Amino acid sequence: MRWLCSRWPEVKEQILKSGHTLLFLDYDGTLAPIAPSPEQATLPSSTRSVLQRLSRNPRVTVALISGRPLANLRQLVGVRSLTYVGNHGLEMWHRGRRTGVFVPGSSREALSRIRPRCAGLVEDVPGARLEDKGLSLAIHYRLARASQVARLKAGIGREVRPFVRSGALTVMNGKKVIEVCPSLNWTKGHATLRLMKRVRRRSLLPIYIGDDQTDETAFRMLRGGITIRVGMHRRSKAQYYVRGVGEVLQFLEWILARYA
Ligand SMILES: [Mg+2]
Repeated sequence: MRWLCSRWPEVKEQILKSGHTLLFLDYDGTLAPIAPSPEQATLPSSTRSVLQRLSRNPRVTVALISGRPLANLRQLVGVRSLTYVGNHGLEMWHRGRRTGVFVPGSSREALSRIRPRCAGLVEDVPGARLEDKGLSLAIHYRLARASQVARLKAGIGREVRPFVRSGALTVMNGKKVIEVCPSLNWTKGHATLRLMKRVRRRSLLPIYIGDDQTDETAFRMLRGGITIRVGMHRRSKAQYYVRGVGEVLQFLEWILARYA
């Protein structure tokens, strides 16, 4: 991985050569600084303004891509004309149309069965929280005591295991969050490729910026694009890293200026 700023000439050239830029942006930890709880992770107004201006540019498509539910993501960002991909790729909002990935009944049923059990486990751990995202569940433990987290993880693991074995569910570990999702072999990476097909432009350059494990699926799949991880991470498949949310904003501002 190389620091984006140190490779600026080659990155810049790749962008200048392309006809259309498709920007994939993760939300938490990429555009919005990580907060103690998901409700507190708000978008800085300077970032919203850049997104707004980028969305008006015919040579740029901006897609927000997140593990958050689609409706929540759209509300948080609040820029109408963007594309939104929620629930790790299961839900998409593109050009005013909502589409989704088919989730089989066995997965939905498994989720509704483990939901109350996970809620019970979370109740016993102060600071932990269960987020019901409709098509998935998230167990947040950023505010929980470290000594209790291991017990919480073991408990969740026990509840989910039979459904993981049966092929209904899968578990992903993010930053201080356990995500329980339908097992569909459908990731942020898959959603990224699908959107590229829908945007269908000549000399399309995809750029993906994300900060977490779930973004790695896109880093692996986007060969030929520009992939950037927020924060240096030795085993990341992203080509570049930036040092924080501030450098992401700087990069977006540069793209805006390039098309102005
Ligand atoms: Mg993130």
